[in-house]
Amino acid sequence: MNLWSDTLLYVEEQRSALDGAIDADIAIVGGGFTGLWSAYYLKELDPSLRIVILEAERIGFGASGRNGGWCSALYPTTADYTVVRPHLVTSIDEIGAFAHQHAPEVGFVKSGTLTIARSGAQLARLKSTLTSESELLSKDQIRSRIHMRNSIGGTFTPDCAVIHPGRLVRALAREVEKLGVRIYEKSRAITIEPTLITTERASVRATSIIKATEVFSQNSRHHAPIYSLMVATEPLSEEIWSEIGLQQRETFAEALHLVNYGQRTIDNRLAVGGRGARYLLGSRLNKKHEMDHRTHMEIIELTRSWFPVLKRVKFTHRWGGAVSIPRDWHPYISWDKTSGIGRAGGYSGDGVTLSHLAGKTLAHLILEREHPITTLPHVNWQNPMWEPEPLRWIGVNGSVLATDIADREESVTRRPSLIAKALDSFIRV
Ligand SMILES: Cc1cc2nc3c(=O)[nH]c(=O)nc-3n(C[C@H](O)[C@H](O)[C@H](O)COP(=O)(O)OP(=O)(O)OC[C@H]3O[C@@H](n4cnc5c(N)ncnc54)[C@H](O)[C@@H]3O)c2cc1C
Repeated sequence: MNLWSDTLLYVEEQRSALDGAIDADIAIVGGGFTGLWSAYYLKELDPSLRIVILEAERIGFGASGRNGGWCSALYPTTADYTVVRPHLVTSIDEIGAFAHQHAPEVGFVKSGTLTIARSGAQLARLKSTLTSESELLSKDQIRSRIHMRNSIGGTFTPDCAVIHPGRLVRALAREVEKLGVRIYEKSRAITIEPTLITTERASVRATSIIKATEVFSQNSRHHAPIYSLMVATEPLSEEIWSEIGLQQRETFAEALHLVNYGQRTIDNRLAVGGRGARYLLGSRLNKKHEMDHRTHMEIIELTRSWFPVLKRVKFTHRWGGAVSIPRDWHPYISWDKTSGIGRAGGYSGDGVTLSHLAGKTLAHLILEREHPITTLPHVNWQNPMWEPEPLRWIGVNGSVLATDIADREESVTRRPSLIAKALDSFIRV
């Protein structure tokens, strides 16, 4: 069960499905952060627009309602990071302003993120990749914030907030409806052509269309969906929290090669996620894969190795979803004026903040309003295709395996992994 949809504070009525043929100025396919922020900024720029959103399932069904709740300034590729970063920081603050005004239940706190080294190899890597935005913390400094077993140092990066993503995505849907946007649930777009979307029972004719389906997008060579799985504990007592730390609710991760991420939730649970589940041939999505028992157990084991006090604590929630990884790890936000179709995605697991930037950028591009964000390098970026199968399957799963081996290598040799060095371009799967 997904923690975020299990802790919503209220029961949300299902919205009706689209029925019949309707007209709109802008039709958006996908009711996640990208689609909703696009609608929000389009309405802000032109309140008279007639906007509809078609969501195949329910609002927040996708990654926006399942993620680790890191609202960070992370960007999946180092290329162009220096020019994009200030805009990501602005996006974090704008998401925070939205949450404070409309949805305090999201528990938005910009308390930064901690990366913890538990071996000399990890610490050496943190030092060698330290950027001007992060601060190196000594063993005592890191332990004053988080009591992770065997920690020997780490880094602190201030530009990251913690959120309850399930509440944010639903609050955003409510707010755009107040602005006059019509949202239809259980309304899967079956065909998307310039100016026309059809569903099983209905159609929308619209001047402009936004495809905001990220990892659910169909073209299998355009991205590799990589599963990220999460677990969460029962609410923990103050006594246990005094043994863990995280008094400011900082997000945190161990400096492993294999992606892992944690947060102290607004209702005082520990929620932790990680990669490691197998990639499926043909970039397929499979619901069963979200509940991969082995990966969930490995994340629980890792969490307990960090905080032995959790040995007797129940892990009440397990869930997961896929993140969309383009071949070059480069996000894209594109707008084609001729066809009237825009799209955004390829956030590679960093989409909470990036989807805000994407939605705001698409709104400005479509309405031809000038803004520095419309000239950022990811605008109209052309991603290369992934290799055909089975090469893609061998490459991606080989990298997942090698990443895991690199961490084991480091835990034995205590030196930066040679395997990791060799796999640099694949390593963050
Ligand atoms: C487990 C997990 C942890 C993550 N952790 C983080 C994190 O901590 N920080 C971070 O920055 N990012 C994280 N991410 C990534 C982030 O959640 C996503 O990049 C982001 O939410 C993508 O938003 P989106 O709106 O583009 O896509 P989604 O939220 O996936 O929304 C797409 C929507 O489109 C709908 N749809 C699909 N096809 C159709 C169709 N044909 N017709 C109509 N609707 C359709 C889907 O039902 C879905 O609701 C994580 C992702 C996962 C899965």
